[in-house]
Amino acid sequence: MTPQLQRELAVLTAWMFFMLMLGSMFGSIAGFLFTGLLVYVIWNLYNLNKLSKWLAKPSKQSPEAIGVWDDVYYQLYNLYKRQRKSRRKLASILGRFQKSTQALPYATIILNDLNEIEWFNPAASQMFSLHTNIDIGQRIDNLIRQPKFVNYLLKNNFSEPLQLLLNQKKIILSITPYGSGQYLISARDITSRSQLDDMRRDFISNASHELRTPLTVMSGYIEFLQHRCDEITKVPLDKVQQQIERMNNIIAELIELAKLESATAVDYSVEVNTRVLLNEVYNEALSLDKNQHSIELVIEEAPDTNPAFNLHGSYEELRIAFSNLLTNAIRYTPEGGDIKLFSNVSDHGISIGVQDSGIGINYEHIPRLTERFYRVDEGRSREQGGTGLGLAIVKHVLDRHNANLHIQSSAGKGSTFRCDFPLSYLEH
Ligand code: ADP
Repeated sequence: MTPQLQRELAVLTAWMFFMLMLGSMFGSIAGFLFTGLLVYVIWNLYNLNKLSKWLAKPSKQSPEAIGVWDDVYYQLYNLYKRQRKSRRKLASILGRFQKSTQALPYATIILNDLNEIEWFNPAASQMFSLHTNIDIGQRIDNLIRQPKFVNYLLKNNFSEPLQLLLNQKKIILSITPYGSGQYLISARDITSRSQLDDMRRDFISNASHELRTPLTVMSGYIEFLQHRCDEITKVPLDKVQQQIERMNNIIAELIELAKLESATAVDYSVEVNTRVLLNEVYNEALSLDKNQHSIELVIEEAPDTNPAFNLHGSYEELRIAFSNLLTNAIRYTPEGGDIKLFSNVSDHGISIGVQDSGIGINYEHIPRLTERFYRVDEGRSREQGGTGLGLAIVKHVLDRHNANLHIQSSAGKGSTFRCDFPLSYLEH
């Protein structure tokens, strides 16, 4: 029992005792006790009424009361004050949040579980021509009607952002689910970044093409001289020819990369016969290797899967990617080592890769291998005719085919480069 209630009980007891005394003095104990109880009940009803009025419209001042009611008001008033304070705090946080999202350069839209717009910031209003008065409560797919966007929304898979062309602007848009079925759309205008990327790509492509002609002319002259010089002069000429060869390789790969970057999306309706493709890559590698390694081709098919389980996309791009992996295995495996080009099928999709017993790679280099011109040992790569662009090309081709590259390697023990084409990719 709380001390306030104890005090109230004591007051009630004293009051009833006082009425009892009056009753015995005037010879009507029951009458006075009844009157005493009635007064007590009326007093409490009066206070209850006052409380309900105050609760309906709480004022800054708590009403005057005595006894247990004073305590009740005191507790309620404190609760009310705390609530007001936290409401003010919440309102200020909300205000700050709205101010910051309004200042965000990114378009931000909040959708409810029916894809109806609940809120958007000025950047979104500008980007998607939304108007607060009309568009709040509208379904977003009635306002952004591009089929690409509508499909993205319907698919309900927001792991990858979506690129859209809207009013001649390139937009990258991502959707994040949050709360109970709500979605946060955030979109960015990447037109100028993409123009810069195009310029960079065009520059590399044009420069590479321009360099090809003088290199061919130089190579022709060197060849001419090689056939007409003495043994001493032949050595430096051979070296120059080697360097020209290297530059030609770099230029060819730069052109290949630029082509991949600017190419239109891969056509998934084209089927690529995995067996034919891997045989071509394998035979090409055999002639390049000249019997220096033991190279095998293992095409493994899961027992209950279709033997014609094929890849989809660009035969030529996939050939270049697998060929780069196999060439690397030849380059970085000492003579006599084992190399395996493999393909296996599982419930998750197709995996195609190259395993070698070569020099391997220390783990700290692995995350950077697909960067352009990243080499673990530059001298060795050069010596082996490497350009530093092979794995960047592989990564690009795999990205275009929605596949992933997994690299497993340890220094001195060999490496496995595996390309995983998930089932979702095959369903395209
Ligand atoms: P490069 O033309 O130099 O081979 P890549 O982009 O193909 O360029 O490969 C990047 C680097 O990754 C190589 O320089 C090499 O250090 C390392 N690398 C690639 N494949 C292998 C492999 N099979 N074994 C060991 N190292 C490798």
